[in-house]
Amino acid sequence: MDDQKITPETLDKILVQAEEAEEQPPLPPGGIPKQWVPGWIRLPACVLALPWILFDLYLQKLAALIIRPPHRKDGKCLKRGNCCHFILIPEPKGLLGRLNFFFNTQIYGFYPRYSEPYEYDGMRVAVMGCRYLEKDGSCGNYRLRPVVCRKWPMIEIFGTPRILKGCGFRAVPREAPKTKKSPLDILQ
Ligand code: SF4
Repeated sequence: MDDQKITPETLDKILVQAEEAEEQPPLPPGGIPKQWVPGWIRLPACVLALPWILFDLYLQKLAALIIRPPHRKDGKCLKRGNCCHFILIPEPKGLLGRLNFFFNTQIYGFYPRYSEPYEYDGMRVAVMGCRYLEKDGSCGNYRLRPVVCRKWPMIEIFGTPRILKGCGFRAVPREAPKTKKSPLDILQ
């Protein structure tokens, strides 16, 4: 993929195309970069991070019980893997940003698809691919996958739901009136 041609506008288009893509995007020039942190450090680091990730998700669920998000998630994952084609994480800026980037690339399996960070949805983001995405769309690191994968699709308390078209999930407004079944529906 030619890095020079990517602009915020083309990035938007690429992300929309990823919703319908039948196959994974091409690898960056030179292929997937090797991780220099050895596996015997990566694995225990992922295991140690897991309780914190689960605690974070638990707190978010708790918060959603107190402040109900305007939407709820409905449907199920169709296991296409399209949501793993382009993962957006905060650009590596400042100490925390760099640490987050280091963890995502060296401990987890992400690698940069483009060399530059881009403006997306009012944020500067790095566009990543994932080395654990299998050809059939499944996750090769499912049990130890990072928090961003566990939160997707995002139904936030504030903000619009973020769901990839065609993924099998949908956001349903909480206040949507339930359609009454007519007696004839039972016969259909
Ligand atoms: S870790 Fe698994 S779920 Fe997360 S992006 Fe990679 S393949 Fe997808």
